[in-house]
Amino acid sequence: MKIKVNDNFSNIPESYLFSDINKRVNEYKSKNPNSDIVRLGIGDVTLPLPKIVVDAMVNASLEMLNKDTFRGYPPEYGYDFLKTAVKDYYKRNNTEIDLDSVFISDGAKSDLGNMVDILGDNEIYIPNPVYPVYLDSNLMSGRKINFIEGNEKNHFLPMPDSLDYNPKVIYLCSPNNPTGATYNYEELTKWVNYAYETGSLIIYDAAYEAFIKGDYPRSIYQIPNSKYVAIEVSSLSKMAGFTGIRCGYTIIPLELKANDKSINKLWKRRQATKFNGVSYPVQRASEAALSVEGIKECKKNLDIYYENAKLLCELFDRKNIWYTGGKNSPYIWLKCPNNMKSFEFFQYLLEKANIVGTPGVGFGKYGEGYFRLTAFASKENTLKAISRLEKLL
Ligand code: PLP
Repeated sequence: MKIKVNDNFSNIPESYLFSDINKRVNEYKSKNPNSDIVRLGIGDVTLPLPKIVVDAMVNASLEMLNKDTFRGYPPEYGYDFLKTAVKDYYKRNNTEIDLDSVFISDGAKSDLGNMVDILGDNEIYIPNPVYPVYLDSNLMSGRKINFIEGNEKNHFLPMPDSLDYNPKVIYLCSPNNPTGATYNYEELTKWVNYAYETGSLIIYDAAYEAFIKGDYPRSIYQIPNSKYVAIEVSSLSKMAGFTGIRCGYTIIPLELKANDKSINKLWKRRQATKFNGVSYPVQRASEAALSVEGIKECKKNLDIYYENAKLLCELFDRKNIWYTGGKNSPYIWLKCPNNMKSFEFFQYLLEKANIVGTPGVGFGKYGEGYFRLTAFASKENTLKAISRLEKLL
């Protein structure tokens, strides 16, 4: 063929992280077939869906059997019943949003990846280490990236202090993947004020907001003036166990304008052209998950993950190992002992304790020397890992 492909793809380093991890684990297993490997590297939920959610999905599917209740294409931006459920969920968390600002999606990843469609050639600022989709989607569209460094000194919560005053697009993720670090009200207010003063846009990833327990903002819209500067992207994946079911939402306030152009209108146009909505049974299941009763049920699962995170944190407290996260997040981000590099520590844990985690450098160069463990394994496996780590570290 003689057609041209998108050359920007050549600028994206291949993501070898998880294939590299699997390769190392498989190699180890083939040499040590009787090893009992515990996986604390997964970023996926493991507990089944609450019954109220499955009942709603089943009932909605049964409606499709009947010609009077059958439904075809859903609205591109989501059914009003689900948009209202999202609005009510925010309201119960003391946050007011407009119904027309809510866009239902098949998950946060698509919206975060697709957002580049409606933005022009801006300076892009991305925290590092962080969830890789912000970086890769901007590289695919040929954008130049600036990193904002997360480190131990700023507790992996980079702030705008050292940034210039040019308008920019800034990605923030709180609670953060992979560090679990969470911005407090004062810190997030600084970011919103910075964006307001500089005419910048914040793309705020709140995929882990449901894990917040303490006095931290669950939504950027809890900060004054944020509706003039921020898009919020969120998901039912971790909150309700929807990683396989697929549903999320993005909030684009009507107040959000770039040189008088409504961002909400641009996204509407983009979605109407390239997206055909989320299936009806999934939207009914999401409505059930976001209801008062549904949230109660989902929280029961989150409590199990919290308990695992707490036990891991207690271990690192006892061992005097520096870490962040684990309190408002299913992720614990620790400093590799004895100045080991991320992959060195990975191999050490695999061989000496048969534990698999995620090397921090996989989330960006400032993640080198750190390591991510997750609370998504079963309690039994988490306890097994803790007793092995107790002896090893
Ligand atoms: N944002 C962050 C920070 C994540 O860690 C993830 C998934 O791991 C996502 C977004 C994607 O979520 P979804 O399953 O809704 O696409």
